[in-house]
Amino acid sequence: MSRLSEVEARLAAAVIEPWEHVERKFDGGRVREHSVETHHHVIADNLSPNGAELIAHAPADLAALVAVVRAVGAIHREIDDGRGPHCFEDAEDWPCPTVQAIDGLEAS
Ligand SMILES: [Zn+2]
Repeated sequence: MSRLSEVEARLAAAVIEPWEHVERKFDGGRVREHSVETHHHVIADNLSPNGAELIAHAPADLAALVAVVRAVGAIHREIDDGRGPHCFEDAEDWPCPTVQAIDGLEAS
């Protein structure tokens, strides 16, 4: 299984329902506690406000990044029109630097 597929599998297993940044107020209405929760589980608690924002958005952000990497990888494909194997997108020798970077990501 590739690293991108592993990330997608972890997302699918962990994110069954939306993750929300929850602020609990005490002491006269000041926000004192930040957590990330679903309707049924606490994902993480005792967080900083920025940490809670990062974690709450992580599922959508990771899914978007995986999709971008897959889309970029799909447009860089090998062709050989008689001058040796090279990339159709950027004409670099095959595998091109983009594909090498994606392959390096895949080797986890
Ligand atoms: Zn390329």
